[in-house]
Amino acid sequence: MAIDSHTPSTRPTVLVVDDSRAALDGLCNLLNADWNALFGLNGLEALALANSECPDLIVLDVAMPGMDGYEVLRRLKEGPATRHIPVIFLTAPGPNVSEARALDLGAIDFITKPYNPAILKARMHNQLAYKRSLDQAMALSLGDALTGIANRRRFDDHLEQEWNHGLRTQKPLSMILMDIDHFKRFNDALGHPAGDDCLKRVAAVLSASLKRALDFVARYGGEEFACVLADTNTEGAVEVAQRIATNLAAARIPHPDSPVSPNVTLSMGVATYIPDRALLPVDLTLEADRRLYEAKRLGRNRAHWETVVEIPAAPEPPGILLVEDDASQRVMILGRLLAFGLDVQWVPSVGEAMTAILRRPPALILSAGSLPDSDGYSLCQWIREDQSLCRTPFVILASPWDGPAELCWKVGADDRILKNEEETVFRARIALHLELGASPQSSQFVTSGAGILLLSPPGALRSMVLSQLSLEGIRTTFASNLEEALAALRLEAPDALILDLDSLDGAPAENLDHMRAFPGCLQLPILVLAGRDQALLVDALDSRIQDRLETPLDADECRHRARLLIRCAQARHRAQESGTRPLAIR
Ligand code: GH3
Ligand code: MG
Ligand code: MG
Repeated sequence: MAIDSHTPSTRPTVLVVDDSRAALDGLCNLLNADWNALFGLNGLEALALANSECPDLIVLDVAMPGMDGYEVLRRLKEGPATRHIPVIFLTAPGPNVSEARALDLGAIDFITKPYNPAILKARMHNQLAYKRSLDQAMALSLGDALTGIANRRRFDDHLEQEWNHGLRTQKPLSMILMDIDHFKRFNDALGHPAGDDCLKRVAAVLSASLKRALDFVARYGGEEFACVLADTNTEGAVEVAQRIATNLAAARIPHPDSPVSPNVTLSMGVATYIPDRALLPVDLTLEADRRLYEAKRLGRNRAHWETVVEIPAAPEPPGILLVEDDASQRVMILGRLLAFGLDVQWVPSVGEAMTAILRRPPALILSAGSLPDSDGYSLCQWIREDQSLCRTPFVILASPWDGPAELCWKVGADDRILKNEEETVFRARIALHLELGASPQSSQFVTSGAGILLLSPPGALRSMVLSQLSLEGIRTTFASNLEEALAALRLEAPDALILDLDSLDGAPAENLDHMRAFPGCLQLPILVLAGRDQALLVDALDSRIQDRLETPLDADECRHRARLLIRCAQARHRAQESGTRPLAIR
């Protein structure tokens, strides 16, 4: 939830996280007078906002449903973009609330509720002032004192950051390493102060030669400079190198003792890599340095490059396209997907989704039903009608007020998931659709003939599930308890398992692991039958399950979830036959 503060954003931004709306309302009035205040209602919103808005300070509650404040702080400290943001805990005392633990984890202050508004604000002001002076010191330590451009330390940081970005996007990263020709002779002829002045002028030419916001230049050392060009191939980097040479020639900085030109010139080495885990960022620098040396050897005042070094590209992380126009829903869903370690692109409309899909076909599309320009159903229809895209898994993210589920099946969507679905179930279903999408497709999908073991005590629920499965032509063996299930597994491994949580006495995770230990059962897709009140039990099963069927049972939903389960089983059989490993998300 982001509440607009109606004020321009030159003021510091503070993010306040509390699961109580009443508490947030009180803080909103208090804080908006001095700062731009953003508000999050839970841990996932907090992480998403911290990453997207880079607040100057975070005020965090400890006890929150789902992810507690300690876990939020731990994850903030893990993120390169968020680890420097100071965090103040503001919390009611309670049995699970420990000041020592908060400070241990890296919180900068700890305030208990009820709080004194004046003291809370004073402490926040102090922390913000401290952060400001740290930021200033950091900026000074990262700039080169003589030329004013970035220094070597910042170059190292920047290169590493862009390298990591390139690892994810698999886009080319280029570097131009430059060295002033015969600079020793320049100093010898005109003196060191003139040499210093020359370095400043060359740095200014370099800065003026870079056009894109992502382009970066630093003083690498002495009379050497380096450009880091993200998302740039060799051609693009050579174009920048030529522009630099032209601009430097136009600047006409006289060099009285250069054998290559009457003016100051540069030799340049240009290298491009698609970042790869088998390499390090410094390998790109070394490659650029080798080419710089070549440029010197070939006579100076030139750039040297070769065609891109071909390195086998690492497999692309599965790209997910999220189509959602509502800001607060987007923050919540993005937070979840990012927490699963997925590469997510977000767009707010069907038009932008189409452009994004054509530019880079995603591994999975998650779309809201209603959208400003059209709707998720039409987008799905468009995908299904396109020959090259029609197999992309497509999931409608539904709100309670969205159209009926039949609409999803009519347009060929693979699934319909509630936006506020329990986290474990949401994650399991996303993983399931990524797995189905990554698996080679069979020519035709049929459920009939597949075998399911249904572990459920005798009663109405078991009979209902049985009759729905038989409508799909699924052979069903049933067991009333763990012992019977183990006996059935000993006889024959089924294609999939449906597990009624009411049929298990002990810890469900251990029982499942026990069943999986039988021959042929390790990859068994599992669906749990569980009510909303059993969310904690489902959580305990974590990534062991592929899906959950909610009780009380809905007949259509039962058949739909069973079909997905069988699709998963068949995909796993095929993967096993072809020796490929199933796709996993963390
Ligand atoms: P080459 O064309 O092979 O690069 O010859 P060069 O003379 O430029 O290379 P060399 O490495 O022999 O000399 C570099 C010179 O750069 C020597 C050093 O005094 C000068 N230099 C390095 N940093 C500074 C600086 O901050 N100010 C000034 N004025 N000179 C510097
Ligand atoms: Mg040098
Ligand atoms: Mg030199």
